[in-house]
Amino acid sequence: MKTGDKHYNNYGGWLRQKFDGQQVFKVTVDAGFTCPNRDGSKGFGGCTYCNVDSFTPALTRQHETIREQVEKSMERARKVYRAEKFIVYFQPNTNTYSDVDTLRKLYDEALAVNPSETVGLSVGTRADCLDDEKLAMFDEYADKLAIDLEIGMESMYDTSLQSLNRGHTHQEFLDLMDKCHNRKFDLCVHTIFGLPGETHEMMLAVADELNRLPIRFAKLHHLYIVKGSVMGVRYRRDPDSIPLFTLEGYTDFLCEFIPKLRPDLVIQRLFGISDREYHLAPHWQKSKRDIQLHLERAFKERGIFQGAEYAIPQPL
Ligand code: SF4
Repeated sequence: MKTGDKHYNNYGGWLRQKFDGQQVFKVTVDAGFTCPNRDGSKGFGGCTYCNVDSFTPALTRQHETIREQVEKSMERARKVYRAEKFIVYFQPNTNTYSDVDTLRKLYDEALAVNPSETVGLSVGTRADCLDDEKLAMFDEYADKLAIDLEIGMESMYDTSLQSLNRGHTHQEFLDLMDKCHNRKFDLCVHTIFGLPGETHEMMLAVADELNRLPIRFAKLHHLYIVKGSVMGVRYRRDPDSIPLFTLEGYTDFLCEFIPKLRPDLVIQRLFGISDREYHLAPHWQKSKRDIQLHLERAFKERGIFQGAEYAIPQPL
């Protein structure tokens, strides 16, 4: 896989290669799911860092039906980003938290809006909400479309998962990964750096963990605090109780982390950011685009390349 001039294997480049240079854009759908650690089946309140509204586009929140959400988002993406093709992205909450018949109905409704320009389906979910029947369903969808399941790993340490109120262990995540070898769909793993109690070495070890998983994509995030989350309440009461990355600190960390990553792993995101109305901290005083440029410039100036220190992993 060519990484272009970015020094890391970036998602934009991967999309252009896969879809013959066309502008492919993700359109977000909120199908009204909840999460097992929110509705009481595994816990209440959701993950402590999460407020789903903070990462659901305002346009999606304004429209009730799936059809309206998809139509309006596509319309906007054509105008603003000159999008030519679309990936329908079921993003907020746990988008496999129902039975297979219901899931099919919801996905099909979104995919039917503009089938000629829809090239993929991306589904955000959790490792404990995917069973064999659902995995087989996604294999079927993958006969026709590019499918990726986005799974939150967040941390590889159970103490962190417990304090985040994730409601599952790292072993449950690994058990799912085991079931996903040789599937037709792709996997994207989401991880957060800077969680309370995790040392620099613990975070660097995540590279080896990602390298040994059967995944094509990774989304890397630094911890940020949003209004309306449990952490948001804690942070407002006592900001010193949750130390957060500065931009320079995170840049230094990524410059150590990225070279350890498998060179074929496609990075969908290098950092996280929420809408201004929800964002509490850290304040890096830069736009999303400027943070992206800052990180990419640092990779170039410091001669950082994804995979430069990649170590062949031991089997799971
Ligand atoms: S982070 Fe994901 S699993 Fe956790 S509460 Fe938010 S949407 Fe649900």
